[in-house]
Amino acid sequence: MADDSIAVVDLDRCQPDRCNYECANYCPPNRTGEECITKRGEMADDGDPIEGDPEQIRISEELCLGETCGICVEKCPFDAIEIINLPQELDDEPTHRYGDNAFALYGLPVPAPGNVTGILGPNGIGKSTAVKALADELVPNLGEYGGDADWEAVLDRYRGSELQNYLTQLIDEEITVARKPQYVDQIPKQFDGNTRQLLEQTDERGALDELVERLSIQPIMDQPIDSISGGELQRVAIAATLARDADFYFLDEITPYLDIGQRMVVARLIRELADDPDAERSMLVVEHDLAILDLLADTLHVAYGEAGVFGVMTDPKSVRNGINEYLEGYLNNENMRIRPESITFEEHAPRESTRGTPLVEYPEISKSYGDGEFSLDVDSGMIYEGEVLGVVGPNGIGKSTLAKLFAGSVEPDSGGLGFDLDISYKPQYIEIDQPMRVDSFLSSITDEFGTSYWDTEVAKPLQLNSIMEQQLTDLSGGERQRVAIAACLSEPADLYVLDEPSAHLDVEQRVQATSAIRRYAENHDATALVIDHDIYMIDLLADRLMVFDGEPAQHGHAAAPQEMRAGMNDFLADLDITFRRDEGTGRPRINKPGSQKDSQQKRDGEYYYS
Ligand code: ADP
Ligand code: ADP
Ligand code: SF4
Repeated sequence: MADDSIAVVDLDRCQPDRCNYECANYCPPNRTGEECITKRGEMADDGDPIEGDPEQIRISEELCLGETCGICVEKCPFDAIEIINLPQELDDEPTHRYGDNAFALYGLPVPAPGNVTGILGPNGIGKSTAVKALADELVPNLGEYGGDADWEAVLDRYRGSELQNYLTQLIDEEITVARKPQYVDQIPKQFDGNTRQLLEQTDERGALDELVERLSIQPIMDQPIDSISGGELQRVAIAATLARDADFYFLDEITPYLDIGQRMVVARLIRELADDPDAERSMLVVEHDLAILDLLADTLHVAYGEAGVFGVMTDPKSVRNGINEYLEGYLNNENMRIRPESITFEEHAPRESTRGTPLVEYPEISKSYGDGEFSLDVDSGMIYEGEVLGVVGPNGIGKSTLAKLFAGSVEPDSGGLGFDLDISYKPQYIEIDQPMRVDSFLSSITDEFGTSYWDTEVAKPLQLNSIMEQQLTDLSGGERQRVAIAACLSEPADLYVLDEPSAHLDVEQRVQATSAIRRYAENHDATALVIDHDIYMIDLLADRLMVFDGEPAQHGHAAAPQEMRAGMNDFLADLDITFRRDEGTGRPRINKPGSQKDSQQKRDGEYYYS
């Protein structure tokens, strides 16, 4: 008996009419006559409501031998079963379990007035479930999914803990909630009207004008919501949430599609709302851009577990320790390893390496659109085979225009470039709406699909195997991103251009995607040009940097590719941001403006590497 294991059956995948119950036929307890795997319709402990089809399977967690057996997991042709040993440290019952053989959440985040509470952790680990509970959209059942859940029982469980205060108020219905959803791309499906109409509904604090100004929303106020870009939608959604007058604000990801300047503005707005002395507001933010999370949050819950199976919210940690422990892969108080190896950053700029074969040497280029509404000037430069070139700069400055110039799909103002490269391009906003399965889509792109090489280099690091059979149209934002990165890398090309691969990926997925892109470039003598606004991702990914500056939507300038140190200095000087190094781990942290370190580093002209 393994009472410390959890069995989850994915009812969307379990198809007993197509498998002959291989799982139950091979399950060792079943073979000795016990009812470990049964049909849901024959569920032993009667009284519980049966979800799913009565012919689908149900696994008894009392009888199951646990992860070390795992025979059913192997036997199921549809990957419908997960058996995972729970960490021994989890001695309590879950806070919420969705049902029999369904996802279990342990712990809850603690909102506190005047505080920005961060949540850091992978997707699928119960963050939204926790937030639904705190927003009173779901009453946690403490693992008893059969009966009626009630808040008094939850309060009993958390009496004496830091959550007691919040729960008491929640039960007294004294808490109002404002929420920003994770996938802003869905908003146009739910709202028909223009930006002004959407925002005016939300202006409960009389703060809309200021939000519109600081988030630069003015130019799109009269545009229909279904015509604005993802970055604009993100800012509108943030404004709509922060304009409300609520006690509890929950923002699920604030950075996708925003450049660093915009990220800093949003972080400041959230901070100011928490610090408002006339109100007691609690802010809860899920965020995967660690530099921004570090800047923004006061305390942090690390979420860990197994996506789709179980998730644990740790007690609150200081934001510095929380991020350090997360990167380290080891949670101190919990005595829990969450990753075999740590994620580390170079404290000093990488040494200038000798460059290999040039891929292309390009001349000065100019390009303007229309009557010169936007113009781009590109300094001449050289790109080498096998390198990963980081591309940084604000939105609307001409980065994708440069990629199109290289690809030959856009002509420079005068003359030709004398070359055009085969480019494989992943745009910032991914639109895949073909009614097709992921595996059919990817195998239509590359003959290498299904080879062990492709599997190791692309499918595994991008965690594609579990979504291969899904329809492209059913994928979440993060899943779509991973498929789009895979599709981009699978195309034969001279130059791989990836625009914001970090969007909607959690930290683990960013690190994995980073190493997949790097390895791919090295092994194929291919060159990758990666546009991203997550400084940690750029740091881990890039060999050199190409820095854009200018005035967005008016004029852009692209400098020649530079070494990391010079590139970071140029880029961050323009933004007026310096980074110090964490004393324990050496990871970069944004300095407080005007602090001693900030002023000293600006005087020294060292914005990133010490
Ligand atoms: P996150 O916000 O961390 O991505 P979620 O809280 O959205 O995670 O989901 C955690 C897990 O709970 C997912 O595997 C999801 O499939 C499962 N889940 C969510 N809602 C339900 C539900 N109503 N019934 C059963 N499982 C659910
Ligand atoms: P980035 O990739 O840095 O966000 P882009 O190269 O996409 O910037 O765009 C730079 C500017 O050029 C933006 O103001 C954009 O609206 C404008 N622009 C892009 N493509 C066109 C086009 N085909 N016609 C007119 N203006 C364009
Ligand atoms: Fe049976 Fe559990 Fe083994 Fe699956 S893991 S075959 S349910 S004992």
